[in-house]
Amino acid sequence: MELTRDELLHGLRATGPEEEALLAEAVRLRDGTVGRRVFLRGLIELSNVCGKDCLYCGIRAGNGKAVRYALSEKTVLDTVGRLWDEGYGSVVLQAGEDRSPAFTSGVERLVRGIARLSGGRMGVTLSLGERSSETYRRWREAGAHRYLLRIETSSPRLYGRLHPRDGRHRWQDRLEALHALRRTGYQVGTGVMIGLPFQQTGDLADDLLFMRELDIDMCGMGPYIEHPDTPLAAAGGAPLPLSERFRLSLRMIALLRRLMPDINIAATTALQAIDPLGREKALEAGTNVMMPNATPARGRLHYRLYPNKPGTAGAEGEGNEGLPGRLQALGYEVPLGEAGDPLHYRKRTAP
Ligand code: SAH
Ligand code: SF4
Repeated sequence: MELTRDELLHGLRATGPEEEALLAEAVRLRDGTVGRRVFLRGLIELSNVCGKDCLYCGIRAGNGKAVRYALSEKTVLDTVGRLWDEGYGSVVLQAGEDRSPAFTSGVERLVRGIARLSGGRMGVTLSLGERSSETYRRWREAGAHRYLLRIETSSPRLYGRLHPRDGRHRWQDRLEALHALRRTGYQVGTGVMIGLPFQQTGDLADDLLFMRELDIDMCGMGPYIEHPDTPLAAAGGAPLPLSERFRLSLRMIALLRRLMPDINIAATTALQAIDPLGREKALEAGTNVMMPNATPARGRLHYRLYPNKPGTAGAEGEGNEGLPGRLQALGYEVPLGEAGDPLHYRKRTAP
């Protein structure tokens, strides 16, 4: 559906009955386009070793307080095997940005291992940061189908304020990586953080237009949550209360569903960190994907991008027990054993 920048701004500022109507319309559109179905992807956080220094992130290289871990290939494959047996049709492998050759070939072996154990039927999504076209090609050829790389913000100016100006954190490079992923044949997902310091409503409207312009297949976006051991939190000045970042995220989701009715939109963990029922509330704003955390405990405790992340030290539990049943009780079909490719991707690649 066409929406002008002014209409997006209006929607982003909606409150009360107008906000409710916006979310309800997004749900109607989702149900009518991709169906009232929720795809589950098991999220495995391979490692929190990261060479980057994004100013907002708890596992940035410069955070000496983060306890580093890397799961063994056997642990990951055992976990994936269990997920496949439970009916998960897709898995997401996420980690810090580790450019070592050992990591690159380790991921390649893992992806091949997942293809082997599922007869090539399990969807494999990677979220491993900015890498060369060559690395993206190797992983794609090993059997990965999808890649999530958030642009974080469509504003190069704001991006500059959220990252060190050291030549290794460039908005333009991130955009080029997204183009490389598309050329390499991935289903491409991106997303942004919502409620960042210095972020204006106009930036968020531009984020939505950016995602449509890029013609993405998938989106995962959610609230920014300050991590106390990061320079961005130390600088202070997060503009909005958490509850408002949460509502704003729901309005972003609903507006994106209206702009791009046939893509996959994930309910992100950061929503759940603010509200234990955050993911379910996101469904009522137009999402159709959930990524329950399946990282084995040893890693999970330390994959702490932001505080109160479900499953990390000191946070509440994740509430993934009996999730399919609870979703069905809300009237959703939860397809088991299906990869769940985005309709948008199937349409754009149809002969
Ligand atoms: N290293 C990879 C993937 C892991 S980070 C990458 O950066 O692409 C995954 C996402 O976590 C990032 O894209 C960012 O949007 C999000 N994130 C990091 N710190 C956050 C914070 N403090 N609040 C909310 N989201 C955060
Ligand atoms: Fe590393 Fe990703 Fe965190 Fe940036 S956001 S510091 S690349 S894990």
